[in-house]
Amino acid sequence: MNIGIIGGGWSGFAAAVELTRAGHRATVYEAGKVLGGRARRMASTQDASAGPPLDNGQHLLVGAYGETLRLMETVSPGSSRTGFLRLPLALVYPEGVSIRVQPLPAPLHLAAALLFARGLVLSEKFSAIRFIQALKKIDFMPTADITVAEALAGQPEKVRRYLWEPICVAALNTPVEQASFRVFARVLKDALTGKAADSDFLIPARDLSALFPEPAAAWLEKDGGAVRTRTRITALQRSGAQWKALWDGGEALHDRIIVATAPAHAIDLLRPLNDCRTLVCELDKYSYQPILTVYAEYPVLPKFPAPLIGWVEPVPLFIFDMQASLGLTNTISVVASASGPHLEWDDARWLREIDARMQQSFGPLPPPRLIRRVTEKRATFACVPNMFRPAVKTPCAGLFLAGDYVDGPYPATLEGAVRSGVQCAQTLLATS
Ligand SMILES: Cc1cc2nc3c(=O)[nH]c(=O)nc-3n(C[C@H](O)[C@H](O)[C@H](O)COP(=O)(O)OP(=O)(O)OC[C@H]3O[C@@H](n4cnc5c(N)ncnc54)[C@H](O)[C@@H]3O)c2cc1C
Repeated sequence: MNIGIIGGGWSGFAAAVELTRAGHRATVYEAGKVLGGRARRMASTQDASAGPPLDNGQHLLVGAYGETLRLMETVSPGSSRTGFLRLPLALVYPEGVSIRVQPLPAPLHLAAALLFARGLVLSEKFSAIRFIQALKKIDFMPTADITVAEALAGQPEKVRRYLWEPICVAALNTPVEQASFRVFARVLKDALTGKAADSDFLIPARDLSALFPEPAAAWLEKDGGAVRTRTRITALQRSGAQWKALWDGGEALHDRIIVATAPAHAIDLLRPLNDCRTLVCELDKYSYQPILTVYAEYPVLPKFPAPLIGWVEPVPLFIFDMQASLGLTNTISVVASASGPHLEWDDARWLREIDARMQQSFGPLPPPRLIRRVTEKRATFACVPNMFRPAVKTPCAGLFLAGDYVDGPYPATLEGAVRSGVQCAQTLLATS
């Protein structure tokens, strides 16, 4: 089959790789200049003379992201190892709490991390251990979901603030008062109750486009596929048993179409299709959450106690040492997830806040220089209890969906996007 895939993000390329592996011809259409969608190198930093390439947002993966690592290996052998700085899970807060996974087999790695955690008393440590044990027994059947805040009600305040809430916001990009406990529990279960390596942090050691989308594009093209950047599909039309994809100045016929865009862009393409009316109505109800990344440079950066360190007050954020991951000397990235008044802060206020926290941890430092502040207003869908997530198969024959929001156990993450692309390819093949 000749399959058109709209969207050159991680889900689109995951679908394209799987379909190509099965012997079909995939054409990926990407509206932007740079491949990768919401996980990409910013076009303006592609030019080496403009400084090091920076992404649209600092990303963090975990060892449990098995499908992402598998597909990276398919298109670029070795890249699932060389593409990341891999380190044992470490939640280090200069405010006082520090939880570091120990080099022991599971489940001792985590038990030891909590028992030897700094800044927590014994009763708090045991509460956290009991919470993780309870995860193993959770039934993921679609029973009524609750919020993460409700599920954490029995946890001590310090454990909530320094352990569960930062993990929830980092993984679901949704505040605990609104976040789905079912999805949160699934992410925790996969990362914390499996092999010790599943809980590892994986910090990209390449820009995000070079990590998977670009090698995937090169791999596809070698295998007869095609990738068209700067090609925004403006309409989809039925044409007999096929689908026509139209763009400004061109059109192409495909046996099947996969819409692998963010939900808001999928709506634009699906709205004119009568059979997709109900689907569009449901997707229209989605709400979104922002993510902000600030890149800054210090004249000299002190040695970090871990490649990423966190703060809870006055707003939760993580600071990454980009020298450790990308070799960018004296450079940090600061990530603040989910909405809040801090998203309205200007550059000067951000620099002051960052500097205050850096000085709190490392003592007096010369002032930092802002490299760039990036706010992705619709970084992810808000992952709320019992939300509608569409099936990969749409009511229109031959038209499929992929993307981090499509039905699956994961929140809006790279693993969620890749899994959905793989599942979409499998469903398309099984129903053809
Ligand atoms: C700032 C930020 C930080 C994040 N941090 C993390 C993290 O730490 N860990 C993690 O796992 N996840 C993180 N995520 C989430 C992760 O990046 C996304 O879940 C994932 O990239 C979504 O991939 P996707 O393929 O589903 O969609 P997208 O990446 O949105 O890809 C869709 C593509 O379709 C293209 N497109 C749209 N309409 C059209 C059209 N009409 N024609 C042609 N092309 C079109 C778009 O340009 C885009 O390239 C973060 C996201 C952001 C924004």
